[in-house]
Amino acid sequence: MAEDNAEIKLREIAKEIVVCPRCELARTRTKAVPGEGDSNAQIMLIGEGPGWHEDQQGRPFVGAAGKFLNELLAIAGVDRESVFITNLVKCRPPGNRDPFPDEIAACAPYYLDRQIAVIDPDVIVTLGRFSMARWFPGERISKIHGQPKRDGRRLIVPMYHPAAALHQSALRSAIEEDFAKLPKLLADAARERHKGESEEPPVEEHDQMKLF
Ligand code: URA
Repeated sequence: MAEDNAEIKLREIAKEIVVCPRCELARTRTKAVPGEGDSNAQIMLIGEGPGWHEDQQGRPFVGAAGKFLNELLAIAGVDRESVFITNLVKCRPPGNRDPFPDEIAACAPYYLDRQIAVIDPDVIVTLGRFSMARWFPGERISKIHGQPKRDGRRLIVPMYHPAAALHQSALRSAIEEDFAKLPKLLADAARERHKGESEEPPVEEHDQMKLF
């Protein structure tokens, strides 16, 4: 099948990411992790940054948190291949520490924001407080998780980070319940997005001719 434009653009962004020298994380990474999934995804999931397994493999969410994320997607009835999964920063912070503000500033506007513009998803799910802070500055995840906010015609849904929720039963139930809401949120977002578009198929010219 021919590659579409979005796929080509995502691949170009990924090529830049794997050789990116923009911050200190470039010096300690094994592999940068651009992200993966459907270039026309309706849902984009944004984590914090690669962990040890991701850094080894160059793929997002492939360790324990990734296994749990796969379970959460199954709860939502969503195929992993149909979404796009990436992170706020594309290289692993050493020892899995939090990314520093200057690392986020050197990365997200150049890579994440361009990926969002290319994919143009109906729904963005932020996983954890760092990606949440891009759309909900100053908010607490314990207060707003699972509550979508509109950003233009797109919905942003803040959720707990799967790694945090995996071993804490209260957070685990919360993230499972939040993922269970995804199908409805997606339907709402898609409806809102396509509001105003005609339900009627366009009248072909030869059909118009028949009117005369
Ligand atoms: N945690 C993240 O935030 N991202 C990954 O890719 C893996 C673990």
